[in-house]
Amino acid sequence: MDATIELRHELHRYPELSGTEVETARRIVQFFEPLSPDTILKNLGGSGVAVVFSGTMPGPTVLLRAELDALPIQESNSMPYCSTKSGVAHKCGHDGHMAILAAVGRELVTERPAKGRVILLFQPAEETGAGAAAVIADPRFTEITPDYVFALHNLPSFPLGQVAMRSGSFASASRGMAIRLQGKPAHAAQPETGLSPALAMAQIIEKLSAMPADIAASEEVAFATVVGARLGKKAFGTAPGEAEIWVTLRSETDASMAAIVAYAEEVVTAIATRYALEATLGYSDIFAATINSEAANAIIRRSIVENFIIELERPFRWSEDFGRFTALAEGAIFGIGSGIGTPELHSNNYDFPDELIAPAAQIFMRIIAQILTELD
Ligand SMILES: [Zn+2]
Ligand SMILES: [Zn+2]
Repeated sequence: MDATIELRHELHRYPELSGTEVETARRIVQFFEPLSPDTILKNLGGSGVAVVFSGTMPGPTVLLRAELDALPIQESNSMPYCSTKSGVAHKCGHDGHMAILAAVGRELVTERPAKGRVILLFQPAEETGAGAAAVIADPRFTEITPDYVFALHNLPSFPLGQVAMRSGSFASASRGMAIRLQGKPAHAAQPETGLSPALAMAQIIEKLSAMPADIAASEEVAFATVVGARLGKKAFGTAPGEAEIWVTLRSETDASMAAIVAYAEEVVTAIATRYALEATLGYSDIFAATINSEAANAIIRRSIVENFIIELERPFRWSEDFGRFTALAEGAIFGIGSGIGTPELHSNNYDFPDELIAPAAQIFMRIIAQILTELD
């Protein structure tokens, strides 16, 4: 079996959650050390690893990104390399993304860039939106500051190997909003002596679930998903005094995100005030929209056989923290089909197809060649 496929199966067997990818990072380092790259930076922004291959002449730095983390999902597949960890599995195909960069690294050993540098970055904590920011905030990131950044994401329900591209926004902005309503508990026999958040909670859920279409920029998809809520507790003698509502806000651009955040905050404040409740808001899992640059997209387009490209009409609704990198360098992310009829990402029976590793690595090699072998 090919070493990169073996690596994927090994990574799949021992998945780790966002921010705890210590063993995964160690396995990546173990794969690259025998290949003698110029540098391996460890513990970047947590457990991140950057593998550096330099050319002989000065030139631009091209960074390719993969993700180290798996998901808190119990695997339901039964292949021989199944997850050995209960409740944790690679269900976003990040094991495949890592194997693709491993294949790129193996080729770079014999085919070094003529100029500049290639950085293979394995970032932690993509699924929580924290990892890219942490890597960039690491003081040692200055040693690998990129001029160009590229990444891909495998895409179930697209033909195997087909490349999905988009100008501008590729993946949506999203953020988790935690709303806390504080009132006053009372005896359930005398609820009028307390301040129950029950009605306010119901109205906030209703109002945010039906966000008016004109809040976001025209034609843009922007909405709120109420993902959970809690009111008081199972105590039949007590009228509740507090409630929590958890909402995910989602939009195609950062500008629309700012607009729907302002709208949601207004809704909460107005309803809480009506019922004399104290409202507190908190945010987490904050993802910026991932915006592709035209120059980087043009490089990707030249790296792919034309009839293998599909231009996406809308950005994906899911979010991706690669936008942190495209915000600071010329860059783009593209999708690559993992086959029609495959389960969706984050579902308990998804598995990255090994057949995608070699062709995806070839696309990255052609991207690198365009930037780092054509001499000027
Ligand atoms: Zn994911
Ligand atoms: Zn992913």
